[in-house]
Amino acid sequence: MTDRSIRPSETISRRTFCRRAAWAAGTAVAITGPFGARADDGAADYIDVHVHLGQPWAAREPLTADILLRWMDEHRISHAVVLPLISPEAWYYPITTEWVLKETKPHRDRLLPFCDVDPRTDYLRGQKGILDTLKRYVDAGAVGFGEHKCGTAIDDPLNLEVFRAASELKLPILFHMDNRRNTDRPGLPGLEKALQEAPESAFIGHAQGWWASISGDVAADQMGSYPKTPVAPGGAIDRLMDKYPNLYGDFSAGSGANSLSRDPAFGRDFLLRRADRLLFGTDYLTPDQDIPQFKLFEQFDLPGDVRRKIFRANAERLLGLA
Ligand SMILES: [Zn+2]
Repeated sequence: MTDRSIRPSETISRRTFCRRAAWAAGTAVAITGPFGARADDGAADYIDVHVHLGQPWAAREPLTADILLRWMDEHRISHAVVLPLISPEAWYYPITTEWVLKETKPHRDRLLPFCDVDPRTDYLRGQKGILDTLKRYVDAGAVGFGEHKCGTAIDDPLNLEVFRAASELKLPILFHMDNRRNTDRPGLPGLEKALQEAPESAFIGHAQGWWASISGDVAADQMGSYPKTPVAPGGAIDRLMDKYPNLYGDFSAGSGANSLSRDPAFGRDFLLRRADRLLFGTDYLTPDQDIPQFKLFEQFDLPGDVRRKIFRANAERLLGLA
């Protein structure tokens, strides 16, 4: 971490310090803040199910655990799920599971690591090899699987093999779906197959292909984009959520924000209707990143119980924090 990478506003305040200390001790502390009037129990507002740590690479600033924790304090986020990105299609360079486990290790009271394997890894093939690897990651502290961002179809037999292994360990699976990674067709028949193969895992959908499928009229070429048209009822997300109680949505990134902002009336109804299956997330991965989710959710003026579920309670349940 360099001084240059910390903005003045991130300087730790006494209140922040007390709050962090309180979380570390496993207790909530009464605080007031931007959402203080609405916080019913004094605890932090959010659990963020989607962030990344980053190394300096390709002219990008690093995002260290310390920077992440300060940003979480500023935004009243108690816990964040820290995701590796290991497939060659996933990022500039591999953010390995081993590195994520190492960097989060001193902060496991707040930073919750997931793990991933690329199912094309030749020597891993076969259920036992994958299962052994995942067990090793779980023993080292991983509490979920993902961000799975693999350049195959979501229902590629190799993918199904890792999903079955994750299911055997009851790990939540956070997947990125677009038109190049974990691909599917409109209507999400491939995802349905994956859900059937891995019934013990919660599937957490993320990215353009997943969120474009909120609309019943999604076209194949929209599975990698951010459609701005009003949502047509009958989307695959609603169909599959009706049928599979283990299917969740992650509102992180531009795709998550767009799924609500493209049609706010549908979006508000969706938030109310699916309040038990939706998760707050940002995809925070670089120090100066603009995060639209905070303001966006405020615009919907949601009832307190819906806010609590989406911002915290659903994640607490999935991650075993409750
Ligand atoms: Zn991500």
